[in-house]
Amino acid sequence: MNIADLTIKKTHELLVKREFSVCELIEHFIREADEKKDLNAYLEIFHDINKQVEIAQKMFDEGKATMLTGIPFAMKDNILIQGKVASASSKMLENYTATYDASVVKKLREAGAVFIGRTNMDEFAMGSSTENSAFGVTKNPYDTARVPGGSSGGSAVAVAAGMALGALGTDTGGSIRQPAAFCGVVGLKPTYGSVSRSGIIAMASSLDQAGPFAKIVEDAEIIFNAIKGYDPMDSTSYPDNLSKREVKRPKVIGVPVDFVRAKGIDPRVLENFERSIDTMKEQGYEIKEISLPSLAHGLSVYYILMPAEVSSNLARFDGVRYGYHRDGENLLDDYMRSRGEGFGREARRRILLGTYVLSSGYYDAYYGRACSVREMLKKDFIKAFENVDIIATPTTPTPAFKIKEKSSDPLQMYLADIFTVPINIAGVPALSVPDGFVDEDGVKLPVGMQFVAPHFHEEALFTIGKDFEKIRINKIR
Ligand code: GLN
Repeated sequence: MNIADLTIKKTHELLVKREFSVCELIEHFIREADEKKDLNAYLEIFHDINKQVEIAQKMFDEGKATMLTGIPFAMKDNILIQGKVASASSKMLENYTATYDASVVKKLREAGAVFIGRTNMDEFAMGSSTENSAFGVTKNPYDTARVPGGSSGGSAVAVAAGMALGALGTDTGGSIRQPAAFCGVVGLKPTYGSVSRSGIIAMASSLDQAGPFAKIVEDAEIIFNAIKGYDPMDSTSYPDNLSKREVKRPKVIGVPVDFVRAKGIDPRVLENFERSIDTMKEQGYEIKEISLPSLAHGLSVYYILMPAEVSSNLARFDGVRYGYHRDGENLLDDYMRSRGEGFGREARRRILLGTYVLSSGYYDAYYGRACSVREMLKKDFIKAFENVDIIATPTTPTPAFKIKEKSSDPLQMYLADIFTVPINIAGVPALSVPDGFVDEDGVKLPVGMQFVAPHFHEEALFTIGKDFEKIRINKIR
């Protein structure tokens, strides 16, 4: 048996049959993680996991195991695990140890999951390449000269390179789906409010959502079902009954053709996407061209609202209460040095932008307006879903780019999220599923198909995602 081919469900069956023990399984994944250190996916591999392993094995022995019991998990470094460092890949929090478990961690722990390490990311989840990490870039396993995407690049690589069976990331504008697409794995951005944000280091609170990375859609579904649900610790989390909508099998797929064909998309990615849509049509799906004019404003709205919230969320890192501290000449100088040295360039850029758009003279012109356009975008989506069950776009306009290719040009970098950002603004759920490869310099680089569903219709995403995997089976590794 090749452990590399295992999915969560298959692993569960083998654990039940005692083909191997939890300990053997976990040891295998930790060994893989140790051997593939060059990819820099993990910031820390936990070697003190005996207790977790024991608990998981006991759950099997007592017949109380869930589908996730004993499953090796990688956690993005902005998700708190009690007693472990959670640095958000920032020098600011390099030595910060979490004093409690994030709600998602608590839920996975109750299900018996085993956390084997914390993964690299762009600092405070700001970026699309993991190059903004204070601890070095993560490498794409398909071509180590390329980025894995970001900001949850480490979690994507952990799953893609067989160093974990499941991982959590966070997605504020694409940070789960984009790296999933670049690394050939499945990534889900759930409906805003369906997964608790308690215990997750905030980037932009009205957009942030935690979600799973997995090898196949079914695994992502298993993880999502374990982490979702109302949490009194998160005032934006939704009551459970809201998520129990009637689910019909999705049949009609809307494609926002003008938006998808906009300039900037790599012709090979476009061709690949259109071929996949044609294949779905052959398989009985009805394809409708739709127009979502406000999508074009997605990035502009995002780069006002997101920095505004970033500037406010990151104000707490003042070097006094916790985090990086540097003594200055006086109190103001203390702040300037602590924040100036503790935060990297991108974090500082966004704090400045956010402070600007919120400042009294500019609030109405920028922040206020962006809020109105956000409402428009949300309404456009709701309206589009009156005529279609699912909306499909490529996940990204290009395959994984080279390390350093975009790092000195923030605007180019921001464009990597053109298809994913509007989803967070509207708060709807979206799933990235591997959609074959494009060839570049003789290397096969994965690309993703993004399916978008109405609020709380994750089920529809899983249904169509699993169907799509079957349709594309030959091209998926
Ligand atoms: N890449 C986007 C950004 O830089 C999205 C980040 C995210 O989803 N956390 O903001």
